[in-house]
Amino acid sequence: MPNSGSNTPQITTRRTRKNTSRYAAGSSRASGKSVRTLRVPNSIDAAGNAPVDVDGNLIAEENPAVDNVTLGHNHLQQSAIAAPGAIEAPYIPGMSHGSTGNNACHQPPPYDLRRKFNPSDSLPCQKFVVGGNGSAESDPSVSLSPGASSTLDVYLPARKKVRRAATGSTQNDVVKDGSHYLQYELPDEVIYCIFGYLLEEDLCEVSKVCKRFNTIANDTELWKNLYQRVFEYDMPLLYSGPTKFEFVNPEEWYSNPWKESFKQLSSGVHVRPGYQAMVEAEPEKYKGTNITYFDSIQSAMDLSDEVDNLLIFVHKGIYRGEFLVIESNVQLIGAAPGNIAENVIIERSSESAIVFVEGAKTGYLGYVTLKFSPEMGFNVPHHKHYALEICENCSPTIDHCIIRSTSVVGAAVCVSGVNAEPTIKYCDISQCENVGLYITDHAQGIYEGNEISGNALAGIWVKNHANPIMRRNHIHHGRDVGIFTFDNGLGFFEENDIHNNRIAGFEVKAEADPTVVNCEIHHGQTGGIYVHEKGRGVFIENRIHSNNFAGVWITSQSNPTIRKNEIYDGHQGGVYIFGDGRGLIEHNNIYGNALAGIQIRTNSDPIVRHNKIHHGQHGGIYVHEKGQGLIEENEVYANTLAGVWITTGSTPVLRRNRIHSGKQVGVYFYDNGHGRLEDNDIFNHLYSGVQIRTGSNPVIKRNKIWGGQNGGVLVYNGGLGLLEQNEIFDNAMAGVWIKTDSNPTLRRNKIFDGRDGGICIFNSGKGVLEENDIFRNAQAGVLISTQSHPILRRNRIYDGLAAGVEITNNATATLEHNQIFNNRFGGLCIASGVIPIMRGNKIFNNQDVVEKAVNGGQCLYKISSYTSFPMHDFYRCRTCNTTDRNAVCVNCIKTCHSGHDIEFVRHDRFFCDCGAGTLSNQCQLQGESTQETDTLYDSAPPMETHTLMVN
Ligand SMILES: [Zn+2]
Ligand SMILES: [Zn+2]
Ligand SMILES: [Zn+2]
Repeated sequence: MPNSGSNTPQITTRRTRKNTSRYAAGSSRASGKSVRTLRVPNSIDAAGNAPVDVDGNLIAEENPAVDNVTLGHNHLQQSAIAAPGAIEAPYIPGMSHGSTGNNACHQPPPYDLRRKFNPSDSLPCQKFVVGGNGSAESDPSVSLSPGASSTLDVYLPARKKVRRAATGSTQNDVVKDGSHYLQYELPDEVIYCIFGYLLEEDLCEVSKVCKRFNTIANDTELWKNLYQRVFEYDMPLLYSGPTKFEFVNPEEWYSNPWKESFKQLSSGVHVRPGYQAMVEAEPEKYKGTNITYFDSIQSAMDLSDEVDNLLIFVHKGIYRGEFLVIESNVQLIGAAPGNIAENVIIERSSESAIVFVEGAKTGYLGYVTLKFSPEMGFNVPHHKHYALEICENCSPTIDHCIIRSTSVVGAAVCVSGVNAEPTIKYCDISQCENVGLYITDHAQGIYEGNEISGNALAGIWVKNHANPIMRRNHIHHGRDVGIFTFDNGLGFFEENDIHNNRIAGFEVKAEADPTVVNCEIHHGQTGGIYVHEKGRGVFIENRIHSNNFAGVWITSQSNPTIRKNEIYDGHQGGVYIFGDGRGLIEHNNIYGNALAGIQIRTNSDPIVRHNKIHHGQHGGIYVHEKGQGLIEENEVYANTLAGVWITTGSTPVLRRNRIHSGKQVGVYFYDNGHGRLEDNDIFNHLYSGVQIRTGSNPVIKRNKIWGGQNGGVLVYNGGLGLLEQNEIFDNAMAGVWIKTDSNPTLRRNKIFDGRDGGICIFNSGKGVLEENDIFRNAQAGVLISTQSHPILRRNRIYDGLAAGVEITNNATATLEHNQIFNNRFGGLCIASGVIPIMRGNKIFNNQDVVEKAVNGGQCLYKISSYTSFPMHDFYRCRTCNTTDRNAVCVNCIKTCHSGHDIEFVRHDRFFCDCGAGTLSNQCQLQGESTQETDTLYDSAPPMETHTLMVN
């Protein structure tokens, strides 16, 4: 049995242990004499988790000849067999921290006494044997023995009689009086106090003496004290394997997490300047512990050539000038109380603070601060130097580090090269005077939960075929873009929160092609996503909102896919495509933006499908300056201005959209807006469904335009357009208005069930109307007025509730081969002085109720009331002082105004003001006067939107 003694200098110890794989040899194991004096009673180490020694497992494996190890194994079996008959619960009053699972007592431990002593004031310390494989997991005989479940083992009592040692033991069984006193007569408090002076290996050893010792020696507070002296952590750190570190809340842990953590971390070495000298100066004081200390990280790292996954604790301090190029699987972790990383600082000023190179596969760096702080005016360019640099063919884990760089060039972290695949998680890369995280040259890796903020340049750069996976990072308040992918950069970005960056949240440039899923990109000081210079990228299910500029910008031959995003509350538009932009904009929900939901400009030609574009403070889709685009199956609704605006040489194609419930126009073509509008449903607008003006010449086919609060289609101010096969119905005003020098072509439309006229042509309107079916409208099927001159060919105008065709007010018209029938007031009504060109029309079977009323002596007001305008001979009564704005029907003239001074006005559209009761005399034909009306009611004028210029 090796008996090197715990006072062997640690460096020597470490060299000795080089032959083992984990530095586990027990340098502090005591002499054989101790074994005889306080030998382990056999009932104890079968007690489940009780006799866990810090590094005993390895001793057992590697030193099978050690006799008490053998003994320990036998104990396990023996006690297991003995267990059922030997249960007497070893309840110790006041013991709440026992690890036996005794749940009978939750009182606080009565060991306040211990706090009065500083355990580091060394008392003569009884040295116990380390050894015996107490770990149940590592001894198959425990788990495999029938009837020897660990539950039973836990309750095995301390025994007064020391059992005979197991086979193979040659030790003396005699228990001396002193040990009896210690074990059975000393009060718990005193034992606890004494144990408070023991170091970890001793404590493990005494725990094997008896049940009572075991319980006390496993006290959580005892271990917490020990643990924090060595590791300094505020919480137990579990270490389940290379790179697998986890702090646990001791309150939530079922047994003694401090001891468990101590055991798991015991193979590590410590960088704690000055400590090795201290140990060497007072070796007695450090008996019972087995910790290796170094003064520098570099010297500890030398071991990593020999030990895979060498675990190094770097204690509080500022480590400057360490040359740390890591090419092995070393695990470097900060060790300090409080905020660990803030207390452990690795800093350099002329070279990268830490570099991982080929060979660091499962390397780990955690809980430290890395700083690169080049001196001001430093001559050597340091754009190739970083706080953290990860090179090709390595894959370390960087965890919970704070990373800072004051270099005004380059980046704080650089990951570069083929197979550079780090895991960088929970790091804080902030306030750097350059780029936070730079990934380039085919590098990959996983980047999770990092805080990247306040950096002078981009938070993240991804370049040159780099393809990282980035999840749940928080990238904000940068003084440039949040994430910048460029020069063929790739990457998968998921659930990142990107906000308050000075430039765009996410920028894609120069054939970069990232995938961005489920991120939140918001409150940017410019746009949300900016794709340019042939950028690509897939953006899915992101929430893009509250940005100062557009949520998404696409320009310069870029062609991203924007799918299923929520794009809302932007201070400008939702998606802005300009400068030869392309892109697939699909299934997005775009709403509440200050400017257009989607804006397409300057030769851009995106595909816009299946989006919902609504509740904008401006228009829905705005296409201008030769914008194009295929716009299909969107729902555009409840926008403040037009649902779709098309202007200035634009030629988009809109198909199968639902455009409705806007607070102004549905689709608005103006100033040479063109394009195709096909198979859309356009309904329930406050203004016209479609409005065309000023040189615009769209093709409008097979749309349903209905339910508007105003007209269906308004063409005015020189508007053109071809309207074919549309259904225009149930609008509050005319189905189609043609006004002010406009000249559209309408073919094969169905214009019906209007709450006003079918087609109204006013103010020098023209137009070619061919083969339309115009029916069931409340007012004239076609009303032609005020210098207008349309051409009507082969239309069918029927079942109107007023006249079929009316021509008045110096208008004229060419009517060829129309069929006008079954209209209530009459077929064709032509005012005085109007001479239309007529050829081959069929006017038949009209109800002619106007003519019948006149012949029957009725007042025409009876058939028109004040809402329509029967065309007939109307008069003025000078006696009753009627004005140009009033007129009186022929029968009222004959009866009500008999003997008055009257004058024929003309044959035209009026209602009778006598019958309406607006004159001073009482109408004798009407019976009783109806409600007051003194205005000439004409078809209400259409409301025109005025373009608000944007961008
Ligand atoms: Zn009348
Ligand atoms: Zn009169
Ligand atoms: Zn009258």
